[in-house]
Amino acid sequence: MTYAAKLKVLFSRSDIACTVGRLASEISRDYRDKNPLLIGILKGSFIFLADLVRELDFPLEVDFVTLSSYGSARESCGQVKMLQCLRTDPCGRHVLVVEDIVDSGLTTSFLLEHIRKQNPASLKLCALSDKPSRRRTPVRIDYLGFTVPDVFIVGYGTDCNEEFRNLADICYLEEEV
Ligand code: 5GP
Ligand code: MG
Repeated sequence: MTYAAKLKVLFSRSDIACTVGRLASEISRDYRDKNPLLIGILKGSFIFLADLVRELDFPLEVDFVTLSSYGSARESCGQVKMLQCLRTDPCGRHVLVVEDIVDSGLTTSFLLEHIRKQNPASLKLCALSDKPSRRRTPVRIDYLGFTVPDVFIVGYGTDCNEEFRNLADICYLEEEV
């Protein structure tokens, strides 16, 4: 990996496994009899969602949307684009949106608003990480894994210009702290 020497582990794979287990217990308690529809936001949530659903031992469905506001930069451009929309009708369903990290909040508030208009029975948000210091619009996170400082994280699904998604740990680039 190009920047391997500069990568520092923020949350190790065992921290992540422990946190995903805790989130799965909270979600199981609330959704066991609801056949929920879990919606992952691509690409960043693909590993988190895959690990999370394997900890849930009750009926559920999975779908994905692809949203983009970042392009290749690290700052949100403020404009959220739906690159691939939902294929499952959320009307009357108990919907749980699954996101890698909430930063400005623009991506998740855009998607939650889009789904809310389609009359789900309930709508909640699960995020593995939250960077509250950078919020530009308020977002309620119902199930939260980690609160992170204002650094750009990579790994466990999240990228920097498409690199590092395959790291098993959540890392940051050393020069930033
Ligand atoms: P928001 O719309 O809340 O600003 O940004 C949400 C999206 O930006 C996340 O889904 C994620 O893809 C990306 N993002 C935000 N912070 C980070 C970060 O620290 N690292 C990476 N790799 N992506 C981030
Ligand atoms: Mg994302």
